[in-house]
Amino acid sequence: SYGDALRSTLDLDQSRACDGQFEEEYQPLQAVGKGAFGFVWKALRRSDGQEVVVKFINKARVVSDCWVDDPMLGRVSQEIALLTRVQHHNIVKVLEVFENGSYFQMVMEKHGEGLDLFEFIDLQPRLDEPLASYIFRQLVAAVFYLRAKNILHRDIKDENIIIDKCFHIRLIDFGSAAMLAPGSSFTISVAHWSTAPQRCFREIRMRVQSWRCGLLVYCSTLLFSENPFCGVEEILEAKLKPPFPLSTDLHGVLCGLLHPDAAQRMTLDQLLLQTWISQPISLAEYSWTEVVPSTQSYCLPQQQESKPQMYVTQNFFSDQHDETLPDDDDEDDM
Ligand code: ADP
Ligand code: MG
Ligand code: MG
Repeated sequence: SYGDALRSTLDLDQSRACDGQFEEEYQPLQAVGKGAFGFVWKALRRSDGQEVVVKFINKARVVSDCWVDDPMLGRVSQEIALLTRVQHHNIVKVLEVFENGSYFQMVMEKHGEGLDLFEFIDLQPRLDEPLASYIFRQLVAAVFYLRAKNILHRDIKDENIIIDKCFHIRLIDFGSAAMLAPGSSFTISVAHWSTAPQRCFREIRMRVQSWRCGLLVYCSTLLFSENPFCGVEEILEAKLKPPFPLSTDLHGVLCGLLHPDAAQRMTLDQLLLQTWISQPISLAEYSWTEVVPSTQSYCLPQQQESKPQMYVTQNFFSDQHDETLPDDDDEDDM
């Protein structure tokens, strides 16, 4: 509303979050996201009028073990250090980072109209299994890429995924992300568990609480517009009661991923082998306005409906999918 917008503007002015070089190069436009307190704004690049999204990160709120010495950027928050080092088609792109005494200003590419998956699901999209699979596999691709880089996102949820009109998603919000020491639990296989109990524990903990859980609940949320479980007991029983019939493939994926016993739960590598994940889809057959008829309020009038290109999914998880920068000579320089 107008009142909210005014309040956000006052907050932004008062916080002096824009002070410094950032303000010389960008003009803040309006708050995005749910952000009454969240300082995420649309902004205009003064040099060419390009719209971007900027996240203001209050230095005082960055806890002590989330500071990192970055060879390029100096002392920054973990979120900034990690996001500036990843390049993937399904992870938000950071364009540049500024700072003043109190804030970092992390300038990102604006993806779509800033619609996150929470809002998307709320619009009750008409998703069939191929399209749900297409959206889900992009998230899996991002997580797979992060795993190879030893990065745990730790806050995967619908609000932290943004989607554009071509059903292209990007993972955002690395504010809770962490680096795993190389060789730690991610790489420990089941065979080693009996000889490394403490690592085994870490692995299980990760399986239980982190990305995989996020992925799963998520997968079903996309299709049913509802959380599959109503409480802890239901989660522990893992009894799925889908409101409509599923394909056998999808049922297998969901049961595997939601298995209450972490040791028997489907792993990311097993997930990639499932045919449901890589099923063919002809994206040209889907248009945003047909999938999300109630989308009006999110459409800018000047935006044209664009039909996405046919996407060949076979090599979705291959390296080709990384976006490489010209100066990226050392992939694993973490
Ligand atoms: P927080 O850490 O406060 O949750 P996020 O990084 O998740 O902040 O951003 C808050 C919201 O802003 C997101 O849920 C999303 O709606 C929107 N948003 C963030 N980054 C972008 C972006 N690059 N493009 C479009 N919208 C974005
Ligand atoms: Mg968030
Ligand atoms: Mg966050």
